[in-house]
Amino acid sequence: MHSTSVPGGAARTAVVVGAGVGGLATALGLRRAGWQVTLLERRTALERYGTALGIHPTAQTALGRLSAHVAAALHRNGVPYRTAHVRRPDGSVLARLPLDRIERKAGRPELLICRPYLIDALAEALAAYGDVPLKLGERVEDPAGLARDHHLVVGADGINSAVRTAFFGTRSRPRHIGTVAWIGTADRESPVHGETWGKGRFFGMTPVEPGRTNWYAVAPEATTADELRGLFAHWHDPIPRILSETDPADWIRYEMRHLYPALPSFVHGGRVALVGDAAHAMTPNLGQGACTALLDAEALTRAVERHGEPGGLPAALRAYDAERRRSAQRTALASRALHRLMTTRHTRARDRLLRLAP
Ligand SMILES: Cc1cc2nc3c(=O)[nH]c(=O)nc-3n(C[C@H](O)[C@H](O)[C@H](O)COP(=O)(O)OP(=O)(O)OC[C@H]3O[C@@H](n4cnc5c(N)ncnc54)[C@H](O)[C@@H]3O)c2cc1C
Repeated sequence: MHSTSVPGGAARTAVVVGAGVGGLATALGLRRAGWQVTLLERRTALERYGTALGIHPTAQTALGRLSAHVAAALHRNGVPYRTAHVRRPDGSVLARLPLDRIERKAGRPELLICRPYLIDALAEALAAYGDVPLKLGERVEDPAGLARDHHLVVGADGINSAVRTAFFGTRSRPRHIGTVAWIGTADRESPVHGETWGKGRFFGMTPVEPGRTNWYAVAPEATTADELRGLFAHWHDPIPRILSETDPADWIRYEMRHLYPALPSFVHGGRVALVGDAAHAMTPNLGQGACTALLDAEALTRAVERHGEPGGLPAALRAYDAERRRSAQRTALASRALHRLMTTRHTRARDRLLRLAP
């Protein structure tokens, strides 16, 4: 295990605000790099809602660098995502998702993991250090005060980030995009996986663990749970069955938002950095929100480790910003464009375009 002090005895202290995927991973990376880390989370327990997260091979590599324990848990609990299609509401296939191309290029498949498994593995790896306080029920309201007391403040506090507002203002802020996502898990295996695109709405199904299917339905913002069943009632099997068999009380409702305009920087004043949704909240269409949070955490902690002492932090943070900002913002832009395409009302033109796409 690494020590938490630099030559000369001065401890390098960091506070990470938010214990979601991004915050837990960043705290792990900083502790691994020898920093003294405190993690502050406003909730009284870690949020364990159960959507399946698709973890791309690049994010798997980042996770492996942060923690062998978490990488092992990912491989133990994750299921390979190999075959999925885009369909019309009548079930006819429009396109195949390029999962085989991802696997060929990376030499391993994308993995789907139930979010609680990932959160638990990250929290366990952190707890194994024995000296990283995870303070629950601590809502940060004065991020500037934290910056006075620590060498580094990391805002991993999600789309409504208080750290972002305090240091970057409110020009970039969450914007509604007019749709709502309902998310759930069905106790049945679906014979088909992927997405079905209709007029102004779509439905997705992925494997998550044996005997269960992760599903999400996206519809106009005011849609209620009852209306949702009606909107998909005549779509192909097993969509209506999934919606009628699962209890709306177990569905999660999520208003689709993204951060707009993009931030001019992910870092501030040589001692503040943003990661994950706090830095680049995106629509979930590309399934990259958690992946980019993991890539941010790994890149930030690697940059900080390379630059070593507190005096080297401004350069480390600039290196982090240079490595991650454009890439994450490009992904966010592509995800937003895909959302437009998936919810367009001009379905004939879209479907023709999709069939022509490689
Ligand atoms: C329907 C859906 C499907 C998705 N599918 C995928 C997928 O397949 N693959 C993928 O990679 N991503 C996916 N995502 C996106 C992914 O879930 C998020 O992008 C990711 O979880 C963001 O992690 P985060 O740690 O940055 O933020 P969050 O998970 O939002 O964590 C932020 C934490 O900060 C805490 N906090 C907030 N404010 C404060 C404060 N003031 N003080 C202290 N604590 C605070 C919060 O309580 C929270 O615990 C999906 C999202 C949705 C909605």
